[in-house]
Amino acid sequence: MFQLRLDRPSQVPCKVLCLGAHSDDIEIGCGGTLLRLLAMYPNAEVWWVVFSAVGLRRREARSSAKAFLARASKSRVILKNFRESFLPFRGEEIKEFFEEIKAKFVPDVVLTHYRHDLHQDHRVVSEFTWNTFRNHLILEYEIPKYDGDLGVPNTFVSLDVEVCRQKVDNLRRHFASQRSKQWFTEDLFFALLRLRGVESNSLTKYAEAFYCRKNVL
Ligand SMILES: [Zn+2]
Repeated sequence: MFQLRLDRPSQVPCKVLCLGAHSDDIEIGCGGTLLRLLAMYPNAEVWWVVFSAVGLRRREARSSAKAFLARASKSRVILKNFRESFLPFRGEEIKEFFEEIKAKFVPDVVLTHYRHDLHQDHRVVSEFTWNTFRNHLILEYEIPKYDGDLGVPNTFVSLDVEVCRQKVDNLRRHFASQRSKQWFTEDLFFALLRLRGVESNSLTKYAEAFYCRKNVL
């Protein structure tokens, strides 16, 4: 069958925009995919944007982004200080910020939150992503959580176990403030990677999953 491929000739520049509401969202949702992209594209340029990164969570976000982006030829980490859980009430400023990004960076792919995510901050970031990037490939990642909003994703990226291990180790290492949370565990992250691997018939057993709502062939 035809396959959509992530891997173009590696000399081609690849521009990736990662958007996350909170400090660890990008890593949980698409950290493995990003590591894989950076291994395939030595010329990759990544913009990494976190909307709510304050205090300790800001320091964690910065050190984690540095680890995930170690292989990027160019990267920019932008940490905003919007108040956690209140993003829906800061729509005007957030929209203006999205327009700033769009004016300066033209991504090949945008990695963002799932439109039907039950966390209001996640949803706002997803909505403004679609509202701002009108001619781009957008992949929406998933975040497992108490609310129980996992759905049926339609796009999968196979990941080697080593990449999964690197993702999970980075998460555990850089987000000490989250280690006490009952869901922030190695087995949870691996369980979801394994489940999506099964659903995508991944030869490597593991995968991250996305929602691709618009795909132009
Ligand atoms: Zn979040």
